[in-house]
Amino acid sequence: MTSLYKTPVSSLNGIGEKRAALFARLGIKSVGDLINFYPRTYEDWSNIKHINELEYGETACIKAIVATSVNDTRISGGRIISKTAVYDDTGSIQLVFFNNKYISSMLRQGGEYFFYGKTSSDSYGMQMLSPTFAPAIKGTQIRPIYRQTAGLPSKSVESAVRQALSMLPSKINDPLPDAVRERFDLCPLRQALFDIHFPKNCQQLETARKRLVTEELVVLNLGMRNLRDHSRGVTSLKITKDYSEEFESLLPFTMTNAQKRAVSDCINDIINKSSPMNRLVQGDVGSGKTAVAASVCYTVAKNGFQTAFMAPTEILARQHYKTFQRLFENTDIKVGLLTGALKESEKKQIRKSLADGSIDMVIGTHALITDKTEFKNLALAVTDEQHRFGVAQRAKLLGKGNNPHLLVMSATPIPRTLGLIIFGDLDISIIDELPPSRKPVKTVLRTSAMRGGVYDFIRSEVKHGRQAYIVCPLVEEGELDDVASAEEYAADLMLREFPDIAVGIVHGQMKPDEKDEVMRKFAENEYSVLVATTVIEVGVDVPNATVIVIENAERFGLSQLHQLRGRVGRGSSQSYCILISDKGSRTTRERLEVMCSTNNGFVIADEDLKMRGPGDFFGHRQHGLPQMSIADFADTKSLELSQKIADYIMNRYGDIRNDEIRLLKAEIDRLFDRGGQNALN
Ligand code: ADP
Ligand code: MG
Repeated sequence: MTSLYKTPVSSLNGIGEKRAALFARLGIKSVGDLINFYPRTYEDWSNIKHINELEYGETACIKAIVATSVNDTRISGGRIISKTAVYDDTGSIQLVFFNNKYISSMLRQGGEYFFYGKTSSDSYGMQMLSPTFAPAIKGTQIRPIYRQTAGLPSKSVESAVRQALSMLPSKINDPLPDAVRERFDLCPLRQALFDIHFPKNCQQLETARKRLVTEELVVLNLGMRNLRDHSRGVTSLKITKDYSEEFESLLPFTMTNAQKRAVSDCINDIINKSSPMNRLVQGDVGSGKTAVAASVCYTVAKNGFQTAFMAPTEILARQHYKTFQRLFENTDIKVGLLTGALKESEKKQIRKSLADGSIDMVIGTHALITDKTEFKNLALAVTDEQHRFGVAQRAKLLGKGNNPHLLVMSATPIPRTLGLIIFGDLDISIIDELPPSRKPVKTVLRTSAMRGGVYDFIRSEVKHGRQAYIVCPLVEEGELDDVASAEEYAADLMLREFPDIAVGIVHGQMKPDEKDEVMRKFAENEYSVLVATTVIEVGVDVPNATVIVIENAERFGLSQLHQLRGRVGRGSSQSYCILISDKGSRTTRERLEVMCSTNNGFVIADEDLKMRGPGDFFGHRQHGLPQMSIADFADTKSLELSQKIADYIMNRYGDIRNDEIRLLKAEIDRLFDRGGQNALN
C-alpha cells in the first residue's frame, strides 16, 4: 500500500498529464490517494422497486424494459427532450431526458436496464426525470458517487478507482494489528477498501465504513496523544516555590474546592514534574476559571518568570487586563496589555518591556503571537476560551518561550467525546462546582408579541439596581437588512421603552476604545441596559447583570446560546434568560426548549451537535484538527469506540514507536501532514 502512495495517477491507463491535473484538483496525486478518495455518497441500486409501488417525488431504482424507441423532440433554443416508456411486471412509466442527444443510441428497445432517478408527474401520469441507468446485468448494485470537478465527472473517477483497486496486492499490510481488529470486530483493510467503493449491499458498505471511520479516528486519537507525550521534552524552568496560598489572600472571595484542586494540579505540574505542564482547565461558564489562571500566574511571576495570557476577543482581553491589574494592585507584579487595536507606539512600548522583562505578565489577543513579540523569560502560556483557537495558535504561543508551561481554559461547548480528542494532548482539571450561592439561570421562551411584558420585567429589575443585556444578532450579519440594526434597535428602546433608563450599545463594528468605554460604563452600572451583538458572547463578566434577552433566538446554536446565557447568573441574585423567537416550527421550538430545561453545558453541547451536525456546530470556529477523509465528528459512537481502541493499543504496545505498529505510526504522520500541519508546528 505504501508504494502506491508513490505511484502517480498518471501511471493508470487513460490518465495523461491533463487528466492528472484534474485529479490533482481533487487532492489526488497518487494511486494511493485515489484509493483513499471515498465516495461522497451512493445511489442505492440494490433496492429495486416495482413500478406500481413508486410514489411521487421519491428517488428510487427500478428494473424495467424499454417499450418504445426513444422519441426526441426539439424545443425552443435548440434543446432536445427525449422520451420513452419502460415497463416491468407491475406497470409502466415514462422516462424524460433533457438535452442528451445520445439517449436514443444508448437505450435499446426491448433491452432491460436499471433506472435510478426521481419521479414526478404531469398530466399524463408518473414520470422519471433524467434517470441514470445501466444494463440490468449482475454486478454492483450500489453505485458510488464521487466528488467531481469540471471535466472530471464521477464516472471517470469511478473507473480510475477500479483500476487503482486492481493494483492492490492480494495481501496488504494492515495498519490495525490483527489482535485489535479481532477484538473490536473490524474487517481487514483490503476488504474495506473494495467495499467502500463498490459494495454489493448495504451490509458490506456498513462494515467497510465502520472499519475505515474507526481507523481514521484511532489514528487521530493516537496522534493527539503523541503530541502530548513526545513533543515537549524536559523543562529547564526553575519554578520552585508555591505562592498559591499567598495569592488567595488577594482575592475578594474564597475559592471553591474545585478551583483549589485545579490550582494545585497546576502548581504540582510546574514545580514537581520534569516535563512542562500541558493542562486544560475545563469548567462551565461562570465556574471561576480566571481566578485559577491568576493564581498560577502569580506563582510564576513570584518565581521571577513571565506569563502570556491570550484571549480570543479584544473585549475579553481588556476585561481580563483590568481584573488582573486590580488583583495585583498592591503587589510588585507588573501587568501589560497587548492587543491589535493599540496604537503602534503603545505596542512597541509593551513589546520592549516584555523583551527586557519589566513586565511580568501580558494579556492580549492574537497580537501576542506575531513575530514581533518577544519575551525575556516566558514560563507560562495561558489561552482562555481555547475552543476559539486552533491547535496551531496554541503552539505558536508556546514557541515564544523556551518550552514554557501551558494552561488552556475552556467552558465546554464541545461535546465530551470530541473534547477528549481535541484536548487529548492535555491533562485535564475539571471545575465541577459553581461558586456558592449561585442560582441556576431561569430560562423562558417568548414570542415578540410578549415583548411588552419582557420590557416591564427589565424595568423592575433595573429598579432593584440590577442590569440587563439585550442581544440582537443584527449588526454583524449585514445581509439581514430587513431587520433593524442594533443601533436603531437601541435608539428605539431608549426613546420608547426606557426613556428614563441609561442604555448603552456595543457591537463589532465599533472602535475598540469605544467598545471599551461602553463595557466600562456597563461594568460600573452607569448603563443599566446594554444592547449588544454577539461580541459579548465569550467571557464577559458583569455579576450585577441578572437578565439577558436574546432576540431571534432561533438564529443561534444552542452552545452559543449557552455561552450568551453565561453572561448572567454570575452573582448571588436570581438571574433570567429570555429567548425571543417567533419561529413556530417544531424543531425550532424543541431546540429552544432544551435551553429552558437545562443549565448543563455538556448536555447542551451534545444536543447541539446532534441537532445541527458538526459543520454548523463549529461554524467558523476552529478546532485545529486535521481534515478527515471519512470520519464525522458528530458520530459519537465511533468517537467513543476509537477512544477505547486507542487506549487498548497504548496498553498493549506501550509506545507509538513500537515496531509492531509502525504502519499505524505511518498513518498518523500522513494524517497530520495532510492539512493538519497546524497540529504539529
Ligand atoms: P469563567 O469560568 O466563566 O471564566 P469567571 O472566572 O469569569 O468565570 O468567574 C465568574 C465570576 O465569578 C466572576 O465575577 C468571579 O469574580 C466570580 N468568582 C469566581 N470564583 C468565585 C468564588 N470562589 N466565589 C465567589 N465568586 C467567584
Ligand atoms: Mg472566562
